[in-house]
Amino acid sequence: MSKSEIYAKRDGIAITTEMRGYAGRKCERPVYLVPCQKCGTKLRKVTYKPSKEYLCDYCKLEKKRKEEAIEQEIWDLIKTPKEQTFDKAVAKLYKQVKKFDSYKEAIEIAKKRTERYDSIPEVLVAIELIKLGYSIIPQQKVGRYRVDFAIPAEKLIIEVDGGLYHPNGPKAGRDGDIQLSLGLDWKILHIPAEWISNHIKMLKKVIIAGTSDNREK
Ligand SMILES: [Zn+2]
Repeated sequence: MSKSEIYAKRDGIAITTEMRGYAGRKCERPVYLVPCQKCGTKLRKVTYKPSKEYLCDYCKLEKKRKEEAIEQEIWDLIKTPKEQTFDKAVAKLYKQVKKFDSYKEAIEIAKKRTERYDSIPEVLVAIELIKLGYSIIPQQKVGRYRVDFAIPAEKLIIEVDGGLYHPNGPKAGRDGDIQLSLGLDWKILHIPAEWISNHIKMLKKVIIAGTSDNREK
């Protein structure tokens, strides 16, 4: 009696046989009907070891998925707060836009500067600006201030207001200083964080409206 057979009998594993061609002869060999440890589906095995884990293909895949999910959770735990903010913004974008695939490239580009965005709305604005084809500089230093986004080709500053970084308050002094540093041909556009984070697709219209009425003056 083989070891497999001894253990199979001890553990109540059903044994059947199958015919198998071997060196020109047919011979019979035992087949162990080992139940999947998760779902009980019978697996046909030519050996049986009690120490081995038996899982059907489906349960193996499920197990792998679970392990990957746990791994992802661990990755999330060791992410920096800014990386987490970036991920949350991407999740928010996913819910808002119809063709999420068309954003993948913009997301990849925006992600390279994850540490420069202070809030979810800022991340959304960065991604949308890149998607719209603007070359942006996030957290550009202007004099003694840092502005959220500078778009030099458009001579445009975009500030996302209402986040932690720019608490609402008197902006006139700050804007005046920034305007003086950059020159009067630059435009400073303020976008409310709460609003933009739910209407990111409106950004283009906001920019067009905000820049054209200034230049007509
Ligand atoms: Zn199974």
